[in-house]
Amino acid sequence: MTQFPSYASSFRLYKSVSEQYNDRSILDSVKRLIPEKVLHLIADDQTLKPLLHWFKNDFMKWMPKELQCIRCNNRPMSIQLVDANSGALRKTEIHVCNVCGSEQIFQRYDNILRIAETRVGRCSEWSILFGAITNSLPIQTRIVHDYLDHCWNESLINNKWVHIDSTLDYPISFDHPYYYEQNWGKNYEYVLAFSANSVEDVTTRYTQQWYLVQKRRGRKDKMKELREIYYRT
Ligand SMILES: [Zn+2]
Repeated sequence: MTQFPSYASSFRLYKSVSEQYNDRSILDSVKRLIPEKVLHLIADDQTLKPLLHWFKNDFMKWMPKELQCIRCNNRPMSIQLVDANSGALRKTEIHVCNVCGSEQIFQRYDNILRIAETRVGRCSEWSILFGAITNSLPIQTRIVHDYLDHCWNESLINNKWVHIDSTLDYPISFDHPYYYEQNWGKNYEYVLAFSANSVEDVTTRYTQQWYLVQKRRGRKDKMKELREIYYRT
């Protein structure tokens, strides 16, 4: 089980992201990133397929966890993490080649406009920015974290929260909530969805093995405590 201090630092991130989702000037800026052609296509397509396709294939780049040295092709490089709790930067990853000593730097931002400039990241950067893009349309969208190793989005479509994962290929990226459990062997305990002033337990939407989730949770339901931590964050 992820411990509470780790919840607290991720809560700061998701609260900041959710607040940015309510910021009209940020949403206006990210909306301008969407090509006209894609905007036209999604006007009649509630599956968001053209938007997901553009975002994954034309806009964002994936940052692997392990990099290969661009000078001598050695891999994997060793990784140093530098925390930065100031401004838009969350942390910096410095990948150092053990053979030739060259370095590659990956800076991780919680600031949506910085992510939109760099256009690179892993599931957190992708879901933070994709959530802003859908909110700009406007389709109300929030960020979801499974507290194992992945995060994604949920969009409110026809009054229902729908699973959206911009890192996956369509159609898996749209409304395939059991995909992770079925294919990645996820053993959920708490899957949480965030808004600016609340955190919601959405685990039941992602599991067909609720009895196992309950067993993992044990007697104590941590949601009350997690809500208080989020409220204080
Ligand atoms: Zn090297």
